[in-house]
Amino acid sequence: MADAGLTDIGRASKAQGMTGPTPKPWIMDIAPYIPGKSKTDDGRVVAKLSSNENPLGTSDQARAAFLSHAGDLERYPDAGATALREALAAAHGLDPARIIYGTGSDEVLHLAAGAFAGSGDEIIFMNYGFAVYEIAARRVGATPVIVPDADYATDVDAVLAHVTDKTRVVFIANPNNPTGTYCARAEIARLHAGLPSHVLLVLDHAYAEYLTPEEDDGGLELAKTASNVLVTRTFSKIYGLASERVGWGYASAAIIDAMHRIRAPFSFSIAAHAAAIAAVADTQFVAQSRDHNIHWRAWFAAEIAKLGNAGLRAIPSKANFQLVIFEGAISAETAYHGLMDRGYIVRWLPGQGLGHGLRITIGTEAETRGVIAALRDITGADA
Ligand SMILES: *Cc1c(COP(=O)(O)O)cnc(C)c1O
Repeated sequence: MADAGLTDIGRASKAQGMTGPTPKPWIMDIAPYIPGKSKTDDGRVVAKLSSNENPLGTSDQARAAFLSHAGDLERYPDAGATALREALAAAHGLDPARIIYGTGSDEVLHLAAGAFAGSGDEIIFMNYGFAVYEIAARRVGATPVIVPDADYATDVDAVLAHVTDKTRVVFIANPNNPTGTYCARAEIARLHAGLPSHVLLVLDHAYAEYLTPEEDDGGLELAKTASNVLVTRTFSKIYGLASERVGWGYASAAIIDAMHRIRAPFSFSIAAHAAAIAAVADTQFVAQSRDHNIHWRAWFAAEIAKLGNAGLRAIPSKANFQLVIFEGAISAETAYHGLMDRGYIVRWLPGQGLGHGLRITIGTEAETRGVIAALRDITGADA
């Protein structure tokens, strides 16, 4: 299937024999990002557990702030995102001048690759790392260098062993998506200490708010003082604002200055800006979301352990999802379709080398109990 890597529009233009401008070869080497499904094949949804969204929704204050800006649709947002930077700086003890922001933290990841790497350079990330890293590397013509994992987790020694004089950026998600695995503070410090200072260490903290204070990996502290560390954060996960596309990052003034030069002049909307500020202030909603996740993630993992004789194994997770590996008679693909038939949408990632696993977001209590009941049914555990 020579067309397997093509998008629908790519196939259509090829079928019509269209000629036109030639994309750069490194662009055509990019496998497009495949988002989580939001509908089952028959359109019926019991639970969407495929995109790591917050099952508790959004803070009421954030929603109210968003709604209060319905009259501002014709206005451009503040290009400097000043009020949000100040709110984030106050909440985390940061210098507001050193905060970058973008259309989701995805844009901030692209800015990091674009400002610091190009053709002939190498960008390192883990096997089973976040899918955007490879796209960000290839987009700028850099060579992706994929480091072997240690039972799905980040292996600091393996990362360091892959650094060459061509390495420009290392992307580490902590906790990682799609595995949920995590590197403790000492490991992150060891990784940073082992990297040459010309290599930018990007610590992607999309799930950092799900960690307890004791589990903090020290990334923001490092970014305050190190000359080569960028931490990225998002409002899409615990803050429940995925639709609003608000992301940010923190690094040295020199790193932030370089990234500002290539970002889009305007990113998220006025309403999104206000919602994000209110979301930062609603610490109670964040704490409630974290507590919910810790409780139901532990329950979910314990239930998967009971399905161990059917070959199911939960990879230890610090995020708001659980990677379940299928090593028995029931394949991940069979379970994926079985869950879909029962209205549960989860993430099957054969394109990322995880054809043998399912990534399942921790949902509401009813969704979490429901997906376990469906898995027991599919594996015949209750027969
Ligand atoms: C969800 C996610 C992001 C980014 O999401 P945005 O919605 O673009 O802010 C970044 N990194 C990881 C690892 C994620 O899972």
